[in-house]
Amino acid sequence: MSELLSKLQSSTKSRQTRCGFSLLADSLDAAEWDQICLIMDEMRNRQAEAKSKGHTSSWLGRILREHGYSVSDNTIYRHVKRNCCCERS
Ligand SMILES: [Zn+2]
Repeated sequence: MSELLSKLQSSTKSRQTRCGFSLLADSLDAAEWDQICLIMDEMRNRQAEAKSKGHTSSWLGRILREHGYSVSDNTIYRHVKRNCCCERS
């Protein structure tokens, strides 16, 4: 097989299907992760309550980044909407 052919046939998609948000589950301790899951649940299902507390995906992203975790607001938002690549796979 030529090198060109092999390149053309290879997938450019990374095998990495976990995004920055799902990787947090490994980095945070259980209590921290539980709290994030509660907030995500609130943003999904109790939007008025989340809004009244200022709980938004950009708020959560900012806090996490302030604590050294690399996760974008968009990634969090995709998780709120359950539309992230790591949840679909
Ligand atoms: Zn994800």
